Amino acid sequence: MIVSSMLNLGIDLGALEHNYRQLRGLCEPQVKILAVVKADAYGHGLLPVARHLARAGADYLGVGSLDEGLTLRQAGLTLPILLLLGILPQEAERTVAADLEVALFRRDVAEALAAAARSQMKKAKVHLKVDTGMGRLGLLPGEVPEFLAGLKEYRELEVVGLISHLAVADLEDKTYTLRQLQDFTDLLAAARGQGWALPLSHISNSAALWEFKEAHLGLVRPGLMLYGSPPAPDRPPPVELKPVMSLTTQVLQLKHLPPGSSISYGCTYTTPAGCDLAVLPVGYCNGYNRLLSNRGAALIQGQRAPIRGRVCMNLTMVEVTGIPGVKEGDRVTLLGQDGDDRLSADELAAWADTISYEVYCLLGAANLRRYQGK
Ligand SMILES: *Cc1c(COP(=O)(O)O)cnc(C)c1O
Repeated sequence: MIVSSMLNLGIDLGALEHNYRQLRGLCEPQVKILAVVKADAYGHGLLPVARHLARAGADYLGVGSLDEGLTLRQAGLTLPILLLLGILPQEAERTVAADLEVALFRRDVAEALAAAARSQMKKAKVHLKVDTGMGRLGLLPGEVPEFLAGLKEYRELEVVGLISHLAVADLEDKTYTLRQLQDFTDLLAAARGQGWALPLSHISNSAALWEFKEAHLGLVRPGLMLYGSPPAPDRPPPVELKPVMSLTTQVLQLKHLPPGSSISYGCTYTTPAGCDLAVLPVGYCNGYNRLLSNRGAALIQGQRAPIRGRVCMNLTMVEVTGIPGVKEGDRVTLLGQDGDDRLSADELAAWADTISYEVYCLLGAANLRRYQGK
């Protein structure tokens, strides 16, 4: 992380709570919400985000690694926590000791968890992960009956449910998603026919949460929408989401360049006319993507100042010609609202050929976060 008093990465916990309540309102009251806080809460900060969502009423938390789960437990969070990536066999003892639940898809992990649970005189909760078309983690549907049958010998394991992940729930065409959902519910019915209770099975990410009520089942797993971004940037969700993360800085130097001046490494931009240029103390070391070079913009006094030349490690230049009265020290918004205009994570992502998720992860990992609304 780079600490710079010239940059302000703001995290608005009030907005986070607002988004949680909006999502709560989209679900039937009995549907549980597992707030996905993996990857350091999408760059928003694992502990403050998890604490705030727990206080707001989240039923479950979902993290990536055992380490994230342990961090939450050590901080005193008592909610059920699901390790979405599963664990390695050698992590079973610590997993069981901390009462963490595991996405399960490996036989050796099942065995290690059962052994750990036995020695600690506990039960280990597992969610059997099925690959219904994501082509990522999980057993193929055809492998599930045999795997489940193999779990019968581990009486220390409590199989909470089947879980799966949707590959294209954000697309308007629902054919693939409906097929995934059908395969999942078929599998669930078959397993229940074999005597498995599977009380809490789940498949819905943010996109399915608002467009696939039939996929909610007993629990939904939103991530992105909690942080205030729509899963499909071209189709706004039916509820108002408030962006949680913002990034502001200030004008470090203001200068006037004559026509024909080059800007930044590689001289990729030459001023066609006189140019008022603001030098900003932000660069790719701050997670401000180099692909924003000559494409992105910042907001100064609510107006767009286009990036000129390449984004450097610590510095970026924007043109402020025509924006009246800009001074050194003036506030600059790189992500967020200024006046009537707003730079969304989706807009930055489009400029940098990526998605809002990555914008959040990169900015959050690189900069000191400052929290509001605790
Ligand atoms: C990241 C993740 C989610 C959340 O996805 P969003 O698109 O951010 O809502 C849900 N489930 C699993 C398994 C995930 O890995």
